[in-house]
Amino acid sequence: MTTRMTETDDGILAALLRRGVSRRAFLKWSAAMAAALALPASYAPRIARAVAASQRLPVIWLRGQDCGGDTMQFLQATEPTISQMLLDLLSVDYHETLMAPAGDGSEKSLAEALAATPGGYVAVVEGSIPTSDDGTWCMVGGVTVRDMVRRVCDGALATIAVGTCAFDGGIPGAAGGPSGAVGVGSVVSGARVINLPNCPVNVDNLTATIVHYLTFKEWPITDGTGRPLFAYGGLIHNQCERRAHYEFGEYVLAWGDEGAQKGWCLYKMGCKGPETYANCATQRYADGTSWPIKAGSGCIGCAMPDFWDTMSPFYQRLPPPVSLTPAVGVDDVGTLLVGGIAAVTVVHGTLMTVRETRIRSKEKKHRKAEAAARAAAALPAAPVAPGVDAPAEAPPAAPGAPDTPAAAMADGAAEPGALAAPEASPDAPVPPAPPEARSAWLEAPAPPAWPQDPTPSGASAPEARGDDPRPPEAG
Ligand code: SF4
Repeated sequence: MTTRMTETDDGILAALLRRGVSRRAFLKWSAAMAAALALPASYAPRIARAVAASQRLPVIWLRGQDCGGDTMQFLQATEPTISQMLLDLLSVDYHETLMAPAGDGSEKSLAEALAATPGGYVAVVEGSIPTSDDGTWCMVGGVTVRDMVRRVCDGALATIAVGTCAFDGGIPGAAGGPSGAVGVGSVVSGARVINLPNCPVNVDNLTATIVHYLTFKEWPITDGTGRPLFAYGGLIHNQCERRAHYEFGEYVLAWGDEGAQKGWCLYKMGCKGPETYANCATQRYADGTSWPIKAGSGCIGCAMPDFWDTMSPFYQRLPPPVSLTPAVGVDDVGTLLVGGIAAVTVVHGTLMTVRETRIRSKEKKHRKAEAAARAAAALPAAPVAPGVDAPAEAPPAAPGAPDTPAAAMADGAAEPGALAAPEASPDAPVPPAPPEARSAWLEAPAPPAWPQDPTPSGASAPEARGDDPRPPEAG
């Protein structure tokens, strides 16, 4: 495979049609790709147009420490599917397992592939990358896989790490592994790495990732570990076909028992579906034929980081998340948190009510004391104008009545406001004085002249300042 396939230079759709794929089947496949990408069905025509107009995407496929399962997924050949045809129609310019050249010829093929489309190819890496002993645990043509991966991936459009080993080291990278195996992302710097874990990779996710790039000219959005959200954003447990049995408490309790024969939930047999994010339940494997849980084996969480260490033992439930209280599970912790928040809310509301009641009580007492103090203060009698009758003597207090308003208020006989005279509004009309009072005021002798203040030498008289409140003297 040192030279590119040439039959698809007129586009992928033309090549598919030559292979006998009908237009209807192509559109149906486009709808399936939209579903795989978690897009609405309305995107199917756009995907069809973009893929039909695309040229082959050059691919360089490298292998490190792996079992070849991802290549087998790529080549799965139960019967040709459109996904397989699409992947066939990629320009796989270098693949150590599939290409015909060997030895020096394979190295020449790699050099030619890199030179043909500098920066315009996709690197696909399968398998883990050993780092112990300067990476010499895995070498091709005298070059460590680590250095080969760096050389190819650093100049690629993007790197797609297929399978769990390429994701984070997988089984070779599990505790006790001597080769220091790591994922591709750990040995390349600055390259765009898209991780498609699972052991092996689901070829539908590889196809959908490429279709996303062909359609939108950008790679899919990924999570913090570089896994596309369209494939690794949902929990297997939430999409599992055995979920109803989980809800009804119908579990397999031993391999081959009645529950196993009836397809009940595998939770008690150690299924890690409740802890694993992947789309295995919806995409399945082998052209949607089956997947582990449908086949009767629980999920082992192979799409999750360090799954060999963190998800084992595979056929037992994981220890509960709260190790100090073994009987407490995730649901119990959630219930406790919600109950705790509700209790804190109730206590807070009660304390605030008590506090406000106390504040209001204190304010009421304070207002009462202030009113009593004001009423008790002796005010000088107002002068009575000449000719105006003095107010009549207050009638004698009724027996038992308080002597003073202050005493009345102190006794609680009336509210402070009830004893105080109503304040005159500044806008209220002034009642006219009685006629006899006006004549008495007019006939009264003029008041003596205002005594002249000694004015300092050089200072102006108050009149000169215009602020003398005294009335002007007559004449
Ligand atoms: S088989 Fe596993 S993933 Fe499916 S419902 Fe049971 S626990 Fe969840």
